[in-house]
Amino acid sequence: MAIAGPLGVAATIPAVSEPVLTPLRMPAPAPRVLTIDAEDWFHVCGDGYYSDPRRWDGFVPRVEKTLGLLLEALSRGGHRATVFFLGWIARRYPQLVREAAGRGCEVGVHGDLHVRADEMTGDEFRDDLRRAKDAVEEAGGVSADVHRAAEWSIREPAAEALGALAAAGFRCDASMMPLSPLGSEANPSGPVRIDRGDWSLVELPPLSGAVLGRRLPLGGAWPFRVLPEPTLAAGERRFRDAGWPAVFTVHPWELDREHPSMDGLPALSRLVHFLGLRGFPARLERWLAKDRCVAVRDVLAKLRPA
Ligand SMILES: [Zn+2]
Repeated sequence: MAIAGPLGVAATIPAVSEPVLTPLRMPAPAPRVLTIDAEDWFHVCGDGYYSDPRRWDGFVPRVEKTLGLLLEALSRGGHRATVFFLGWIARRYPQLVREAAGRGCEVGVHGDLHVRADEMTGDEFRDDLRRAKDAVEEAGGVSADVHRAAEWSIREPAAEALGALAAAGFRCDASMMPLSPLGSEANPSGPVRIDRGDWSLVELPPLSGAVLGRRLPLGGAWPFRVLPEPTLAAGERRFRDAGWPAVFTVHPWELDREHPSMDGLPALSRLVHFLGLRGFPARLERWLAKDRCVAVRDVLAKLRPA
């Protein structure tokens, strides 16, 4: 686009560069990557009651117990994971961040107050990110350069939040769903390097696959809790045989046998949150026994342009 300058000379406004996506792979079979979103049971998005941080100190906290049990189980099985901490959690329970790092897990950032990235302005996102990164790094005494947004809310490769992440020193984001409504079918299913001219970072999407003609996030939330285990295993095998890390996600509250009832939560949110919780601890134990999990950092160095 060209416009006339003050002296009548045409000045060019550079076009906003489109992100360039380079698909990445590693030697097959790629490993399974376990990620943990370290938040408490009341950290749901977009709910008028539970999402308000002013109420959070009034809820019965469960995360020390539930995340502690999960980290213990990982150590017993010789697993590593990437633990994405909310800044809010890191400030209240810095020992959890130290414990995760001490057990050999990678420490990452899950935002500060669990607000969806696409519901914040650019400045709000940068502020939330800075507070979270500072809290997590101070608590753990480590640097944190991998990120996951609340509720998979970096929706597309052109999202402004990715540039903010790169500017803040993050080298990898794991927040983009290759399916709607959380993301888009047009998003990459496997890992990609996103270049935008003045910055680049790796996007590592979650394990997904088609079930009965519909693409689902096989590696997390209710599909991981309720789909037939052979279906999940086949989806995991497909990714790993293609040289794509199979990224799974677990929340500490999914393992809580005394999960609070969350009265008043709208029906759809309740279904998504509670479906399959009862059987999940045993299911996760079976899944962990099948193969060793690694962290995001373990695969980043091995990914190469496909
Ligand atoms: Zn979350």
